[in-house]
Parts: sequence; C-alpha cells; structure tokens
Amino acid sequence: MAVRRVLQIGDPRLKNKNKDVVDFNDKKLASLISDLKDTMVKTGLVGIAAPQIGKNYCVFATHSRNTKTRSAGKEDVLRIYINPKIIHSSKEEIIIYEGCGSVIRGQLFGPVKRPQEITVCAFDEKGHKFELTTNGLLARVIQHEYDHMCGIEFTEKIADYMKLVSRSFYLKNIKDTPETKELLAVTKIEYKNTP
Ligand SMILES: [Zn+2]
Repeated sequence: MAVRRVLQIGDPRLKNKNKDVVDFNDKKLASLISDLKDTMVKTGLVGIAAPQIGKNYCVFATHSRNTKTRSAGKEDVLRIYINPKIIHSSKEEIIIYEGCGSVIRGQLFGPVKRPQEITVCAFDEKGHKFELTTNGLLARVIQHEYDHMCGIEFTEKIADYMKLVSRSFYLKNIKDTPETKELLAVTKIEYKNTP
C-alpha cells in the first residue's frame, strides 16, 4: 500500500496504450488497486485511473463524495472498475466543470460537455462482472476516468476555452451554485452483477 505520485500531462505514460487485466488473482493487480485507493484518498480526488500513477492497465477507481472541490450530495461507495466499457450513454448532454489530478495537480478547471447518464460494464476487484447505471457527479467521474483508459485528458474536450478557470475561482464562483449542485446531484445508482 502506498500513495503514488500523480503523473502530470506531458508524461508519455498518460498516453500509452492501457492493457486489459487477464489475471484477477495477480498480486500486482491487488497492489495497483491498493495504491489507487491510497492515492485517491490522499490527494482528495473523486476518481483516479491506473495510468495516472504510471501503470498502463485498464483499471480505475471512483469515490463520488464531498471533497474540497465537489459537493456530491449523496455520497457513493468507493468503486473499482477493471476492463471497463461504457455500453450506454444518454442522448442528453450536460456541461460540468472538470479538473484532474494530472493537470497542474487539479489547479485548472474547465467546462466539458458529456452525456448526463451512462451505463458502464466492468469487473470489480474480485473479478465479478457488473453493470452500473448512474448520473450526476458519478457518471461524470466515470466518463472522465474512462477517457484516461484511452489516453484522453479532459483538456482535449473543453467546450469553451475562454471559460477555463483556476481552482480558487472555481471554488469561489462555480462549485456551490444551485446550477452546479443540480448538475452534480446523483439521483440514480443502479448496480447489478451480470453473468
Ligand atoms: Zn483525470
């Protein structure tokens, strides 16, 4: 178990191809998951992907909760997604300000348009397959981390580059507005194990 350094944009490991996990009993997988959890807690992030700590595997974690930068409303449990696929996205898209531990250590925020609700299919850390349908902050974090699986950073998807803001501006003027709270509210978490 260890807190890892979060790689910063420009590092080629954020752009490398990420491998699917084949052996769910591999000790290296257990240690990767443990490092992701520790690093996410320590850095106050609501999501983190394996390539961000220099491991090019299709694994990410989410913990949709109240942090310094996020008012999550209803909090979710910490979840691990291995070999994830987003299998459904709503037609409705919404703009939410995103930041990333790999972009100046979360000091830059910008508006990104993505589907409001998604269904992701993945394996959990025990190798059990599941499907999760959700919206709000959790759907947003899943889509952001899923992009890391393909080497895509949120800065490549900014809806309006004139609206990039600093973390302090975001905290003061955007984080707690009624609009942001409504967009981030998670009103659906449908989880099921699948064969
Ligand atoms: Zn990120």
